Parts: sequence; C-alpha cells; structure tokens
Amino acid sequence: MNTEQFYPLFLQAANVVIDSRKIEKNDIFFAFSGENFNAATLAEQVIDKGALAVIVEQKEYENREKNIFYVPSTLEFLQELAIYHRMKLQTPIIGLTGSNGKTTTKEIIHAVLSEKFNVQYTRGNLNNHIGVPLTILSIKPEHDMAVVEMGANHQKEIEFLCTISMPDFGYITNFGKAHLEGFGGIEGVIKGKSELYNYLKNNDRTVLVNENDPIQVEKTKEYSKKITFGNAESDYQFELFSEQNFVGLIYKNQKAVSKLTGEYNFTNLCAAASLGLHFGIDFNKIGYAIENYTPTNMRSQIVQKGDKTLVLDTYNANPSSMAASIKNFAAFADSKTLIIGDMLELGDESEKEHLNILELAHELGFDEIITVGKIFKAVNHSPLSFEDTSALTEYLKANTISSKNVLLKGSRGIALEKVIDFI
Ligand code: ATP
Ligand code: MG
Repeated sequence: MNTEQFYPLFLQAANVVIDSRKIEKNDIFFAFSGENFNAATLAEQVIDKGALAVIVEQKEYENREKNIFYVPSTLEFLQELAIYHRMKLQTPIIGLTGSNGKTTTKEIIHAVLSEKFNVQYTRGNLNNHIGVPLTILSIKPEHDMAVVEMGANHQKEIEFLCTISMPDFGYITNFGKAHLEGFGGIEGVIKGKSELYNYLKNNDRTVLVNENDPIQVEKTKEYSKKITFGNAESDYQFELFSEQNFVGLIYKNQKAVSKLTGEYNFTNLCAAASLGLHFGIDFNKIGYAIENYTPTNMRSQIVQKGDKTLVLDTYNANPSSMAASIKNFAAFADSKTLIIGDMLELGDESEKEHLNILELAHELGFDEIITVGKIFKAVNHSPLSFEDTSALTEYLKANTISSKNVLLKGSRGIALEKVIDFI
C-alpha cells in the first residue's frame, strides 16, 4: 500500500484518528504499536464499529477485504499521507512556532480569521511529528485557511514539520528559555526555531514579523515578503491597553480588550490582529473576536473562586514564561499569593534558573510565595516549599490562603491545577 493508492479512500473518510476510543463512523484508524499495547489487535473490532479503514504495521493483521492495510511504519505512512494531501491542497497555511505562546496565538488567530473565513486549526496542543500530520489531514476542501502549530524541543524538528505543513505564512512567537536541554542553550533555540524562517525564505513565502523583537528583525532582514507590526514603521501599529488585569489593544482609536491576562499576550493579540487586517477583516470584527475569545485551556486564564481571583497558568512553564507571568501578576491590586511549580527540562541550568525565579519573586514582593516540586525544594528552604502537589494539598486542607489573588504556574509535569479545589 502506498499513499497514492490509499489517497482515494482517505478522501472519503470523515477523520483520521490514532486513539481507538475516539473512532467514529467512517474514520480511518492508524494503529500505532506502543511498548505496552499494540493497537493493531483492535483492527477488526474498529472496522465492525464502522471505521472506513485501518492502517497496521504488522503484516499478520492485514485484511484487505476489510480495508485493513499493512504498511511498514504507521508513523511514516501518516506523515507521507499528510505530505501527499498537503500537495493536493490549495488552502493557504499559517505555520506557527516559538518558545512561548504558540497555542494562545494559534487560538486567537483562528478566532480572528474565522470572522471572515472557514478556518481549520491545530486542536489542543497537537503540535509534534504526529499532531502536525493529523492537523494537515483534517483540512478539507471547504476550508479557506489553516493555522498549524509546530512545536520542537530539538534541532531539525521544525525543518521536518515544515516539509509536512509547507506553510505559506509563518510566525515565530518568540525566542525564549524553553527546552534548553534539547536545543543546547538560547542560541540553539534561536537556530532551531529559525528553521521556519529558512523554509519561508527558501520557498518565497510570507513571514509575519514582530519588529519590537530585535532577533526577529535581524533574522528576517533579507526577506522580501513580510507583514510587520511592533514599531512606528511597521505595517500595522497597535497600542497596549489593559483593563482590570485583562490585556487589550488599540488600533486607530478602536479598542479591544481580551479575556487573557498578561502583558505578553499583547504581542500574541497583535500578531493575530495583523493577520486579520492583512486578510482584509475590519478591525471592529477583529476586536469582536478578541473580546469573545475565552481561554479554557489553563493558559493565562482568570478564574473567580468565591472572593478570590485565581490566575491559572498551569499548562506549562519555562524561565521566560514564568518571569513574564510573575511580573504580570505583581501588578495586580490587593494581596497576592504565588504558587509556582518546577520548570522541567532545563538541563544544567536548572537550579540556577529556579533560583533566579525565586529571587525575582522576592524582589517583586508577594504576600506569600509557595513553591512545588523537587527542584524548587532544593533551592527554597522556606516552610512553604512542597515536594509535590499532594504535599501542598495536605497543607491547604489545614491552612487557608488569605490573599485575594493567587497565581498558579508550573510545568505540565507538576500539574498545579490539582490543588485548585483546595484553595
Ligand atoms: P507549548 O510548548 O506547551 O505548546 P505554547 O508555545 O503553545 O506552549 P501557550 O500554551 O500558548 O504556549 O502558552 C503557555 C504560557 O506561555 C502562557 O500561559 C504564558 O504564561 C506564556 N506566554 C504566552 N505568550 C507568551 C509570549 N508571547 N511571551 C512570553 N510568554 C508567553
Ligand atoms: Mg502549545
């Protein structure tokens, strides 16, 4: 079975699915074999439930009469099929990468562009070598555009993802201290993320540039096709505007306030608004989309709990997003408790980066600083240093937080959201 032979069947499918629990009628199931479980064993069952076809990577499970097809590697076939589909598609694709803010920016771009177009986009955080092909395969002829998030924690990953998504437009949200371990320091991060820029340049595609970021300006200075924002000479100019801890923007005297907290989201909003304006959407519609986008994904999310205001930023954390989040929180009115969790995957710099954050937190002066995780535990010797969320939960059962505002931020592995119910 090769991609060309399989493609006509793919075109009849509803969705491509890799989780057997999510299969619906007419879906194509790619059966991955993991260490503990071989999904190919479910092939017949899945077909009987109404799936259109199953791709397996063990010859013995093949049954062509039942549309169960063998390929040497399910993963490679998924990627090849995505490339094949991408080449057939006329849909313009906006590719995003960066250290922080990809998902948030992707969601806002989707909201803004949906004011005028039928836009497909990466669901959740499916931004890797499996998620990107799945997103590409979810693009149907009726879609006018697609927004594709691409994540990476080592070199050449974005280059590879670009060969699948082939973006017509590209944007790097920022270059920050994320995945330092895999990239080899900040220089490595810049190099790795810039693989998107290289793709755009080599293929004469358009780059969106935040001209307030000197690295972006430097890296794209020789590009002919640019959409720019960020300074007085840029194509589009926005002013920062905040209202009650929510961040917004002003464009030519028109104002839009989002439901996101954190000044760093200003850049994310600007990127989305610039694309909207570029594609001919009126600012009043862009503003409407921005005002109505409600984060529900533990990123820059404000939740009211009784008389307390919780800022949930528990989806992930690295030194740059942690510092940005803490600084933003420091500007909140009234009393403030900080609950910060370990930042994982930092390599040799790990303890130092945690110490830096702790120092920053002390400098900014919060009413209470609580840390969670083993790395913080090694550098924070206060009684409010907990090894994990269970230890903090036990503390919270016996003690109340008196502050009016609470920030929760940490890496995914720490899962700080587990303590919300006990605050
Ligand atoms: P992941 O690598 O997990 O896919 P991501 O790049 O998609 O992350 P988001 O999930 O959108 O990023 O945001 C994660 C957090 O990063 C936010 O909650 C916020 O604290 C911070 N953040 C968002 N945008 C920016 C930005 N432009 N600059 C710095 N930090 C940001
Ligand atoms: Mg993301």
